[in-house]
Amino acid sequence: MLDIQITKTTSPKAKPADESKLGFGKIFTDHMFVMDYAPDKGWHDARIVPYQPFPLDPACVIFHYAQEIFEGLKAYRTADNTIQLFRPDCNGQRMQDSADRMCIPKIPVEDFVQAVKTLVEVDKDWVPHSDGASLYIRPFVFATDVGMGVHASRNYTFCVICAPSGAYYAEGIDPVRIYVEDEYIRAAPGLTGFTKCGGNYAASIKAGEMAEQQGFAQVLWLDGVEKKYVEEVGSMNIMFKIDGKIYTAPCTGTVLPGVTRRSIIELLKDWGYEVCEEHVAIADIMKAGHDGKLEEVFGTGTAAVVSPVKELDWKGDKVFISGGKIGELTQKLYDTLTGIQWGKLPDTKGWIVPVCKG
Ligand SMILES: *Cc1c(COP(=O)(O)O)cnc(C)c1O
Repeated sequence: MLDIQITKTTSPKAKPADESKLGFGKIFTDHMFVMDYAPDKGWHDARIVPYQPFPLDPACVIFHYAQEIFEGLKAYRTADNTIQLFRPDCNGQRMQDSADRMCIPKIPVEDFVQAVKTLVEVDKDWVPHSDGASLYIRPFVFATDVGMGVHASRNYTFCVICAPSGAYYAEGIDPVRIYVEDEYIRAAPGLTGFTKCGGNYAASIKAGEMAEQQGFAQVLWLDGVEKKYVEEVGSMNIMFKIDGKIYTAPCTGTVLPGVTRRSIIELLKDWGYEVCEEHVAIADIMKAGHDGKLEEVFGTGTAAVVSPVKELDWKGDKVFISGGKIGELTQKLYDTLTGIQWGKLPDTKGWIVPVCKG
């Protein structure tokens, strides 16, 4: 158990009057959780303080060598005003896996969950009330040693901030166009594809910007060696329903193991679907599309839950999916997962962790 010192703000910010204009990750709550690491003390000085900037030396390791990891999860407000989390232990475990790869000292999963729960309770009035809106939670760890030598930092800061965010589908679920990236890559065996680290994103921004200029929502990444097999999209895992079966890339080091991905796989198996975690060639997916066997395609991630895909473009070849509409199974997955998260459906899986009454 962490002994968390709480210092509340004396000048609380005005809460957003119109929750429909929240957007994603643009405004932040009144407080943040902070904890430091030093070699002689371990993780220490757990505290909740007013949201504020960090004073950092310009020579900090984080600025130069990007030794940093993060997580992303949400707090939901139910109809009876319970504030709850969805599988926060999975995020805590994944942050340990990221930490291990990036030579960052691990935070015990219980301490990670306690930090998130305590901060959400302090800022519970910031958890939005409107349908589909939630409190996005961003835990992150960064290296704070001062100096230009390239080696693992000795000192770190763990911080958690929260952003009330609007419904992802404020205008209804809108299927997206996806550009299959055949030049740039996101990950390769031995690299950091399975970690949630800022560096993965920094390296992927250019492809995303270029695709956006051409009217695509995201890029679909192929494997980094042969550029032959599908891996994931921008910040989501991706699944393909072909001839009744669901295909998705295996989490063998180059793909981010999404909490949404694994939850959806469990639901699909419960419903009797065959789920194949396999390397699937993009050529086979395009062929299935042309043969009329590519029934549904959707991204999975915490922000959107599911994001239906209506078009894939690969080297000038295009396939169109589900007549531009959300597929039946995609819709059922969306309704089931959001139902559990917002407490409209019973939590038969033990995925929900209540925080407090709002
Ligand atoms: C966070 C993330 C995902 C989705 O993970 P969830 O736990 O489902 O939110 C997928 N791909 C990448 C690259 C990510 O960073």
